[in-house]
Amino acid sequence: MEIRPNYAARLERVRREMAAGAIDAVLLSVGHDLPYLTGYHAMPLERLTLLVLRMDSTPQMLVPRLEVPRVVPQPGVFEVVAWNETDDPVAMAAKMLVGAKTIAVGDQMWARFLVELLPHLDGARFTRAVDVVGALRAAKDHEEIEALRQAGAAADRVALELQTGLIPLVGRTEAEVSADISARLIREGHDVVNFAIVAAGENAASPHHHPSDRVIRKGEIVLCDFGGTMKGYCSDITRCVFTGEPTPDVREAYAVLQRAQQAGVEAGRVGGTCESVDAAARRIIDEAGFGEYFVHRTGHGIGMEAHEEPYMVNGNRTSIVAGHAFSVEPGIYIPGKWGMRLEDIVVATASGPDSMNRANHDLVSVNV
Ligand code: ZN
Ligand code: ZN
Ligand code: ZN
Repeated sequence: MEIRPNYAARLERVRREMAAGAIDAVLLSVGHDLPYLTGYHAMPLERLTLLVLRMDSTPQMLVPRLEVPRVVPQPGVFEVVAWNETDDPVAMAAKMLVGAKTIAVGDQMWARFLVELLPHLDGARFTRAVDVVGALRAAKDHEEIEALRQAGAAADRVALELQTGLIPLVGRTEAEVSADISARLIREGHDVVNFAIVAAGENAASPHHHPSDRVIRKGEIVLCDFGGTMKGYCSDITRCVFTGEPTPDVREAYAVLQRAQQAGVEAGRVGGTCESVDAAARRIIDEAGFGEYFVHRTGHGIGMEAHEEPYMVNGNRTSIVAGHAFSVEPGIYIPGKWGMRLEDIVVATASGPDSMNRANHDLVSVNV
């Protein structure tokens, strides 16, 4: 399925947000707001790429001359202003911003370019572009949800290979298994792998453990958290397996984790709030006495980026709306012993939470 976004409609909605927030200009460079609004993904170069979006004129995209062939023109949506190696693109941007008093800047625009722009923009006030693009990007449309579903199904197929013993574990290093999972993500249709965490035994107690030369042994938990990008949208799944029969402490904790994750998914409903998803999962882990070992928020938004708005964290009172896509991934981490996490991507819909991941949620025993 090819995604054909209506860029003009998206830009129109951004303009409405700009009007509401009295924002005169939006500056987008590196990052995903730019491709979301124009289809063009700027490379993170030392050369400036910058979309200057103002209320009253066609958006102008400053692009290094040598990158212009990669820009797919969108007539009526934006115009390309190529700059040559000897031009001063910051001065060109400053000209486009004459009169702008309140300027919203994309999170990933390099500090270097903003610092160079500042002296040209005397008296301007700055804010974050997420204020005008964030809510729009967070509520996925039908095509975006289908892309997330396909990416999730591809990740599920790799999870199934893990759970059915098709991916050998015992005797291999975490790094070898990580490379194996990465290759399978590509084979199942991902364009790039974003991460493939493999953490065995005590290493699993570090939530973002970097796969190492630690050899996986019999009789331990193996946490695998992996995902990639497929047709522009991300997958992200965590499943744990046990090499043999789970020990009673692990089995009991996992039962708590599984209930907490289900409760988090159930709370991912239109009309609820982001923090209520976190609270639903956390309450169960707290009540079982593992509260101090659940050391991170329950989830993050997902879309073109693996981590984006909205975040499922205490204090985030953002209302969940149809199309919000996010992870629900509580974990329990006992330092020096083991760790566990269970993660699905969920989309809030008018008829309830819709899970992009269907892989078995149990702690599966594998003897490989
Ligand atoms: Zn993470
Ligand atoms: Zn993950
Ligand atoms: Zn995640």
